[in-house]
Amino acid sequence: MANDYYSTLGVPKSATESEIKKAYRKLAKQYHPDLNKNDKSAESKLKEINEAYEVLSDKTKRSRYDQLGHAGFNQNFGGSSSAKYSAGFEQEFDLGDIFGSFFSGGFDSSSYTRSRPQRGTDIEVSVSVSFSESATGCTKTINYNRVAACETCSGTGAKNNDSKKTCSRCRGSGQVVESQRTPFGVIQTSHTCEVCAGAGQVIEHPCSACGGRGKVRKSESLEIEIPAGIDNEQILNVRNKGNAGSNSSSFGDLHIYISVKPHPIFSRKNDDIWCEIPIPFVQASLGGDVTVPTLTGKVQYHVHEGTQHGDIFKLKGKGMPKLSGRGHGDQMIKISIEIPRNLTEEQKELLKKFDKISVAKNYQKNTTFFDRIKQIFGS
Ligand SMILES: [Zn+2]
Ligand SMILES: [Zn+2]
Repeated sequence: MANDYYSTLGVPKSATESEIKKAYRKLAKQYHPDLNKNDKSAESKLKEINEAYEVLSDKTKRSRYDQLGHAGFNQNFGGSSSAKYSAGFEQEFDLGDIFGSFFSGGFDSSSYTRSRPQRGTDIEVSVSVSFSESATGCTKTINYNRVAACETCSGTGAKNNDSKKTCSRCRGSGQVVESQRTPFGVIQTSHTCEVCAGAGQVIEHPCSACGGRGKVRKSESLEIEIPAGIDNEQILNVRNKGNAGSNSSSFGDLHIYISVKPHPIFSRKNDDIWCEIPIPFVQASLGGDVTVPTLTGKVQYHVHEGTQHGDIFKLKGKGMPKLSGRGHGDQMIKISIEIPRNLTEEQKELLKKFDKISVAKNYQKNTTFFDRIKQIFGS
């Protein structure tokens, strides 16, 4: 399991955007590869830092992380995270930009800018699950279209190997350097080559399957594990299952929006399940056993004598499983008391007899209320 993103950056959960940025810059500088040559542990530390920053610096991602933890960002919940570290590292960070501002001059950032892949765009799909599927977790097959590497040319966009030529403008570097003589000396500036768009190569004969783009639209079928306890409107993120990027190797993500269908008798509040149970007024008066439906089957619950309309009872641990995998919410039972309708003459007579022998302490709320009215308005 990965470290907590907040502790990776050494900031509290309440940290502001600028505190996060500051902490990130400090750590990124400390673990930068040029200051830690051949140090594998610094390299992996930097990847962790980058990943944490990628999430915490983005409002949407941060709030999803606060809500779902790592589950919101990794398809293999709780599984190995090494794959996504390496993926996340190269995708969204231009170290040239960041370190250029730290070490103005004297710092060769060209190796970072040259072949930086343009990450592909994200794709959003929605998946509908039943209430019980959200409680137990389930597997869903998702069919969608995405931009993928052309198989005919393996994403190169070229008809065959000879179709690619080294760009003559930049001589393959992808960067064009221009020198300018100034009163302070020669200043060199570099920019991305406009002929090959930084690729370093140009295609003379494009692949006919993709027209030289190197990419095609492709239908995908993906099996997704939906974790037990998922709630309506939560989002699962599957890394690298979005559209292919500029060089077909760096993919966007797939965002899966979960919609949970309403249940006929259960509703959900956080991790608790609510259920309203109507009971006859006689049973509420005398007390008795009531059958209560739960996610795992029916249970008997004893309501006490004198149960009131709107009383709430709790069945501990009978709610939704928590997404963290630890424990469950509770089930809350709200009693609604049903007053009988369509009474026969005999029933009415019996109720009238009962009413005749009723006393003040049978109806405490009623009695208190009318006592107060007497105090306010006089009898
Ligand atoms: Zn070029
Ligand atoms: Zn192609």
